[in-house]
Amino acid sequence: MQHTLPNLPYAYTDFEPYIDARTMEIHHTKHHATYIKNLNDLMDQNLELTDLSLENLISTPDSLPENIRQKVINNGGGVYNHNFFWEILSPAKQELADGTLKNTIENKFSTIADFKLKFSDIALKQFGSGWAWLVVKPNGDLDCYSTANQDTPLIKGDKPILNLDVWEHAYYLSYQNKRAEYIENWWNVVNWPKVEELFNS
Ligand code: MN
Repeated sequence: MQHTLPNLPYAYTDFEPYIDARTMEIHHTKHHATYIKNLNDLMDQNLELTDLSLENLISTPDSLPENIRQKVINNGGGVYNHNFFWEILSPAKQELADGTLKNTIENKFSTIADFKLKFSDIALKQFGSGWAWLVVKPNGDLDCYSTANQDTPLIKGDKPILNLDVWEHAYYLSYQNKRAEYIENWWNVVNWPKVEELFNS
């Protein structure tokens, strides 16, 4: 299959002042687009893999030829992680409504505020480039952790329901070295109804 850059259901300007328009545009049309191109180039050179879905490609890298394994992890992960990230953003301020997800987060992390602190701390402390995640584990438990580079939770069999890009390209134009401030502001643009939909699916 040919992987394509998704159209975003909002404008690059919609997240200001929390995420600036120039960062959104470069992130989508340059960074994300490059992962798509690199992944498609890999598929063109390895036609036996083209029938695999993106999720299948990156869930079981051990089954891939060794000479392209890391390239698929990096570029397939780059495509998956960004596809996911755009979906859990909302220009309109959203709250996590009362319901199963809210109850489950409170059972696991005590309060929503405590969960946000823990997730933010994980995102802040990811050394170098990577992502912070909220996932549902195969046994149904919630978990929070970070991954390096473009690694994904799919490799562990976990189901992601929220992610945050902490590569410098996601925030450097506005925030420079102030990753903590970017993380704090990002909570204003989380699409909680989408996170809940992913949790319930
Ligand atoms: Mn990114």
